[in-house]
Amino acid sequence: MSSIGENGADFLVVANRLPVDLERLEDGTQRWKHSPGGLVSALEPFLRSHSGAWIGWPGVADADVEAFEEDGLQLHPVMLSSAEVRDYYEGFSNGTLWPLYHDVVAPPAFHRRWWNAYVRVNQRFADVTAKVAAQGATVWVQDYQLQLVPAMLRELRPDLRIGFFLHIPFPPVELFMQLPWRTEIIRGLLGADLVGFHRPGGAQNFLWLARRLVGLEPSRGAVGVRTRPGVVQVGDRTVRVGAFPISIDSAGLDALARNKEVQQHAKQIRNDLGNPKKILLGVDRLDYTKGIDVRLRALYELIADGRVDPGEVTMIQLATPSRERVDHYQQMRGEIEQAVGRINGEFSTVGHPVVHYLHQSVDRRELTAFMTAADVMVVTPVRDGMNLVCKEYVACRYDLGGALVLSEFAGAAAELTSAFLVNPHDLDGVKNALEAALTLDPAEGRRRMRALRRQVLTHDVDRWARSFLDALGTQTAV
Ligand code: UDP
Repeated sequence: MSSIGENGADFLVVANRLPVDLERLEDGTQRWKHSPGGLVSALEPFLRSHSGAWIGWPGVADADVEAFEEDGLQLHPVMLSSAEVRDYYEGFSNGTLWPLYHDVVAPPAFHRRWWNAYVRVNQRFADVTAKVAAQGATVWVQDYQLQLVPAMLRELRPDLRIGFFLHIPFPPVELFMQLPWRTEIIRGLLGADLVGFHRPGGAQNFLWLARRLVGLEPSRGAVGVRTRPGVVQVGDRTVRVGAFPISIDSAGLDALARNKEVQQHAKQIRNDLGNPKKILLGVDRLDYTKGIDVRLRALYELIADGRVDPGEVTMIQLATPSRERVDHYQQMRGEIEQAVGRINGEFSTVGHPVVHYLHQSVDRRELTAFMTAADVMVVTPVRDGMNLVCKEYVACRYDLGGALVLSEFAGAAAELTSAFLVNPHDLDGVKNALEAALTLDPAEGRRRMRALRRQVLTHDVDRWARSFLDALGTQTAV
């Protein structure tokens, strides 16, 4: 790692988190730990072929750390105080926007103090970006935590080309209208040259709101906001709006699943479970949007009805710890653990629990082994922007084995139409789909998996990033 030079960056990613996390050790020292996500690997070629920079929070409160350069990529940490982590991050981002944008599955809370912190922190991200961007640079702002940044940045640096992508759903108009600061958010997003969503429905909702909240506002009517399909005209500026469904490093996962050690590990998992006839798998952040309770209830009833034999079927539920300081998450964790306890209490035998519940995070390699071992992957969110886990399962199944049960309310359902699609609110439907997946004829299973893989392997994260950046007008040939 080295400190950075004078030259501005010409391709910048602005995200809530940096691709590295700051870790504070017990002896008081600190070090950087890589947190490689899909976004980092997708954007790596662009970041490295340009003079790239990443602006984000290092993940710890009150960490005032200098910018530095690593492998040719500038990293610019944005400092957050512990009050800002509480109000901007846990508060407005995860207590207001997250539930509001996920169909108010949990009630969003509206607090002016949270909003004020959101404005202040977004301004800080914009200020840092404005300082480090070269003349005419391309800036790609990511996700719901930073929706005001495009307009703030345009105010400071009209020379920049600005893209924004929302990684979570954009809600129906009626729900968005609850937000006291709805006009400010729409104005913030309209600062971009291109606003991207996972699904065309999100883009439609945004276009409607732009017209309604900004275009028809009497005092601001002179700005002249007009919309036509895929475009908002803001004065003499054109803002393009579109759908860009994100994906995964499909080829990388396919290769990892073929690795001998991973296959061995998958066999070991099956063995450790006592070689059940069928393994069901759920992999989620422990979040109320994920519908973990739905699949547990379906499994409970299937066993109680005598349609599933608990001696033959085992379920593994990986639930990654998430947002543990937010109230709703603590309450939900208790409910899910109770549901697991109920199934195991009523239907397990000594040494053979029906549900193996792990409140832990596992690495990519181990996850691939779990996915290789699982006969049925169960993905039942009540709302999910995309859901990458289901695409990862498909990428792992080069053997054309396995079956996918997938909620219609995940963005991925629009692409993965050969899955067993379910409405997570229809418990009987979920039970029927689970039973069908558990008793699937192997030839029919291969047919479905072949179709799923055709989609996932040809639409990977690299293609996603290129299509967004091409639409933004950035040169992506590297
Ligand atoms: N994941 C992981 N370890 C775990 C659980 C999940 O690395 O123990 C990864 C998973 O492979 C996927 C991501 O976390 O890439 C979750 O993305 P998804 O879109 O499914 O859900 P999100 O958590 O973003 O709502």
